[in-house]
Amino acid sequence: MTVLYIKPIIMKKYLNLKALCLSLTVVIICVSCSSSGVTEEEITDPTATNYDITPILSKFNGTGLTVTTNGNTVTFRTQNLPNHKSPYWPTNNALYEAYNGTNTNFRINPNSISSQNISITVPLNPSEATSKQATGLGPIGIAVNGVVFYNQYAGPNNQALTNEINSFDQYLGHPQQFGQYHYHMEPTYLTNQFGSDAFLGLLADGFPVYGPVENGKTITNSDLDAYHGHFGPTVDFPNGIYHYHITPNEDPYINGNGYFGTPGNITQ
Ligand SMILES: [Zn+2]
Ligand SMILES: [Zn+2]
Repeated sequence: MTVLYIKPIIMKKYLNLKALCLSLTVVIICVSCSSSGVTEEEITDPTATNYDITPILSKFNGTGLTVTTNGNTVTFRTQNLPNHKSPYWPTNNALYEAYNGTNTNFRINPNSISSQNISITVPLNPSEATSKQATGLGPIGIAVNGVVFYNQYAGPNNQALTNEINSFDQYLGHPQQFGQYHYHMEPTYLTNQFGSDAFLGLLADGFPVYGPVENGKTITNSDLDAYHGHFGPTVDFPNGIYHYHITPNEDPYINGNGYFGTPGNITQ
């Protein structure tokens, strides 16, 4: 506790009175500090905390992907090229592979993967938004391999994914009409590689996205809030952080009713 030192000589009478009040206030605050025995840290509401996502930035690694921290934001610039095989690569590409997934209704769409120029800026210290925003069509976040996440809708007015799902490749992604590859649900190439409980990427509000398993248990919608996340410790954030989970077979898969935090800028 800092001691408030008052120089009485140079003060006018009213200033002295003011100073006396101030010192009394300080004394009262001191008394309340020592008597309560509760530190500021202990009484902090976890949901009101400004988190720091620095620990997971080194996990991003993708073709034509750069991660740049600037003040309190992080910018991901990505060519959005998946690091895995797909029937959506041009057939002369080394990563081309005919569909070999398990969906017997698979029907390839007419698009093919092409290089993009997408920039997503997210807060380095995300916090809960006071008024929540819906996610838009197009990119809503970025996976650790530099491929963008899309929301649970196929088009305007919340069109269901039902038909689009049949065009998801063996790793559950597909390209839209401009060759922009994306995941609406679990990126199984990444969960196979890193584990079903791993950190998989970020949404544009800076909050992390984790796989469908936590502490050996598969997460369902009933474990999550309306935005498809919850607060709790993760391997990367042992003190706890708000995070989204991907549910493997349950709509809305990645995100629910919008961003928990305030989304940054997305350009493409
Ligand atoms: Zn899609
Ligand atoms: Zn969790």
